[in-house]
Amino acid sequence: MTRAKPVEVFDDSLRVLAERMIEIMVETKGVGLAGPQAGVNLRIFVASIDGTKENARVYINPAIKVEGAVVTNEEGCLSLPGIAGKIKRYAKCTITAQDLNGNEFTETGEGLQARIYQHEYDHLEGRMIKDRLGTAAKIRAKRRLKQLEEEYEQTHNENS
Ligand SMILES: [Zn+2]
Repeated sequence: MTRAKPVEVFDDSLRVLAERMIEIMVETKGVGLAGPQAGVNLRIFVASIDGTKENARVYINPAIKVEGAVVTNEEGCLSLPGIAGKIKRYAKCTITAQDLNGNEFTETGEGLQARIYQHEYDHLEGRMIKDRLGTAAKIRAKRRLKQLEEEYEQTHNENS
């Protein structure tokens, strides 16, 4: 898995990308979506704690600082349908990122918000929840991933 590249140009195409990412996130009823999930290998993600467009925010070139207790909770990922598992995350996370104009801002989130930051940041580092699952869950996930691959190949062949 590769690390996503920093965003260097803050132009209209970045704005369009962010809008598209928010649309995908809302349509798929997610609470976050990272660039690599939208086919763009850039350090950008969108997040909305309640999955609404109104509360969606864009985070570009983020840096995170985690603190507090480690909490285990069920977590899924839009990129891995049907795979969810108990994932350990820090209870508190401070994020410093740039907005669409390149202006830096800092936010501190707790609970679900902190979990979203860490999950989306992982995507930018090329990590997915399947890399953080315990052994038993990993085996189950592997089986499910194999299934997803087969399903994909099937639809792909039918369409070609
Ligand atoms: Zn994800």
